[in-house]
Amino acid sequence: MSEKRIEISQLGEFGLIDRIKSRFTLQQPTSLKGIGDDCAVLDIDAENCMVVTTDMLVEGIHFDLSYIPVQHLGYKAVAVNVSDVAAMNAKPEQITVSIALSNRFSVEAVDALYEGIKAACDNYKIDLVGGDTTTSMSGLVISITAIGRAPKSKVAYRNGAKPNDIICVTGDLGAAFMGLQVLAREKEVYMADPNMQPSLDAYEYIVGRQLKAEARTDIVFDLEEAGLVPTSMIDVSDGLASELFHIASQSNVGVRIYEDKVPIDHETFETAVEFKLDPITCALNGGEDYELLFTISKEDQEKISKHPDIHMIGYMHERKNENVMITKQGNTVRLQAQGWDHFRS
Ligand code: ADP
Ligand code: MG
Repeated sequence: MSEKRIEISQLGEFGLIDRIKSRFTLQQPTSLKGIGDDCAVLDIDAENCMVVTTDMLVEGIHFDLSYIPVQHLGYKAVAVNVSDVAAMNAKPEQITVSIALSNRFSVEAVDALYEGIKAACDNYKIDLVGGDTTTSMSGLVISITAIGRAPKSKVAYRNGAKPNDIICVTGDLGAAFMGLQVLAREKEVYMADPNMQPSLDAYEYIVGRQLKAEARTDIVFDLEEAGLVPTSMIDVSDGLASELFHIASQSNVGVRIYEDKVPIDHETFETAVEFKLDPITCALNGGEDYELLFTISKEDQEKISKHPDIHMIGYMHERKNENVMITKQGNTVRLQAQGWDHFRS
């Protein structure tokens, strides 16, 4: 036993997960993929596999009930799990929902939470098939497990990107992060003077992106229709830069993206400027976008080149650890998992 105590902050979330992963080896031939992707992948028959993912949301860490109506929270808790299923190019089928409640919560609040969960089940056509209910000493905890299915030949892992593959991202980025900044500012104003009514009209889109997360299961269907299987895929939960790093490091390739190709909504852009933030930094590092980031081989480019909501933002190259962005001014900057600095070669 080492005498020194290791602080969790020294390892960080990903270091801690790697440490846990290093102590386990898969024992079952049906465990096709264990820790390290958006979902675990399990062998179920000759053609298909099952994917499984779990996410936990903790009050005060992942959400603040003074901003988010509890129905929206229920919906979002399901959407973030469905997003991980979509990130494997799989279709969701079932969820289980576990909750820990403090005595601050009323039956009406639980009803509202499950109204949101039901709306998400209806929208994504999935079934709630179980869960667990317990007490919490400090706030609400929601843990959801989602189960999905995909043909084995279509599952998209984080480690499949090849040099020259095109990097694609759906929707637009940074909006949920800017929505959160607006909500936090309005809360401060309200705390200082409860007679002040929040003025959110000008921020409808970005606040909506924070409060009403949506998983891009539609893209899984669109890719199927286009006859395209991405070479790699991940969902954007922590921010574009961080997700690009996961794909690059697991695939042993480098990333080259172009700032002017990164999709940012005008409301996100203008609000970032108002908050004296750089819009591209918000798009790279904001998180909670729940868009899909994937790579395709060059030969497949035409199959989705007309898709209105898929943006090609760069390509992979063979120089591992050289993850760069070409700025609007034509400068090459090195991407950082958090932030970025000037490229020195
Ligand atoms: P995502 O952001 O896609 O939900 P995470 O970063 O939360 O993914 O997790 C990355 C991988 O680590 C996933 O395969 C997840 O199942 C696994 N993982 C996270 N925490 C643990 C844990 N405490 N024990 C085992 N595996 C974990
Ligand atoms: Mg994910």
